Amino acid sequence: MENPLIRLAGVNKWYSQFHVLRDIDLDVQPGERIVVCGPSGSGKSTMIRCINGLEAYEQGLITVAGEPVAQDDDRIEAIRQRVGMVFQNFNLFPHLSILDNLTLGPIKLRRVPRAAAEARAMELLERVHIGHQARKFPNQLSGGQQQRVAIARALAMEPQVMLFDEPTSALDPEMVKEVLDVMIELAGTGMTMICVTHEMGFARAVADRVVFMADGAIAETGTPDSFFEAPRTERARQFIQQVI
Ligand code: ADP
Ligand code: MG
Repeated sequence: MENPLIRLAGVNKWYSQFHVLRDIDLDVQPGERIVVCGPSGSGKSTMIRCINGLEAYEQGLITVAGEPVAQDDDRIEAIRQRVGMVFQNFNLFPHLSILDNLTLGPIKLRRVPRAAAEARAMELLERVHIGHQARKFPNQLSGGQQQRVAIARALAMEPQVMLFDEPTSALDPEMVKEVLDVMIELAGTGMTMICVTHEMGFARAVADRVVFMADGAIAETGTPDSFFEAPRTERARQFIQQVI
C-alpha cells in the first residue's frame, strides 16, 4: 500500500455538547475516488470541512500528504491550497469576472504572474466547457455553469485532492448532468476525490468506495455495487430506498 494522501484516524468532534463526528477512521489513497453519502445531519459536511481545516476537531488526527491538519497551525494555509473544495452553493466571488474568480487565488496565494494565471485559467475554463464566458460575472451564468466555474477555480490552485460537498443538490434537475459530467471527466484524469453526493449514477460510474455515514459515524463502506445492491445495515437499506 502507498501512503494515504488523506488519513483520518480516530477523529472526534463536538459542537459544544453535541458529538457530531464519532471515531472516524478513513484512509484515501492517491487517485482514489470516494463517495460519501448518508442521511441529512449525519456529519458528512462536517467531516469534509475538517479535512481542509474549515472546521476544528477535538480528538484524533487528520493528515494530508502526511502533514497534520490543525486549524491553529501556520501550515494550514499550505494545506488548504492542496485541498480543493467545491460547495453546494458555488460560493463564487460575485463582484469578480469568471476569469478573475480563477486567477485571484493563484496570483495572491501562489504568486503566479498574471499572464500565466490567466492562460491557465482559460485552459481550465475550456476544460469545463465554459471558456467563452470568461468575461462574464457569476450572476450572468446558470447554476450549472457557476458550479463548473467553481470546479475550475478550485483546480486553478493545482490541488492534490478535490472535496465536493453536494455539488449538484442546489441545481435545477436539467443542470445536474453537466456538472456530474465535468466531475466524471476530472475522475478520468486520476484526481483524488472525496465527493459527498447522493447521485448513485455518479457513484457507480467513478467511485472506488462508498462511505455511508449515520449519526456522525462511518456505518458502512463498500464498493458501489456491494453498497447499493447489498447494504449490510438497516440504516443503509432505508437510506438507499429513499435516494433511488
Ligand atoms: P450533513 O452534511 O451530513 O447533513 P452536517 O455535517 O452539516 O451534516 O451536520 C451534522 C450535525 O451537526 C447536524 O445535526 C447539524 O445540525 C449539526 N451542526 C452542523 N454545523 C453546526 C454548527 N456550526 N453548530 C452546531 N451544530 C452544527
Ligand atoms: Mg451537508
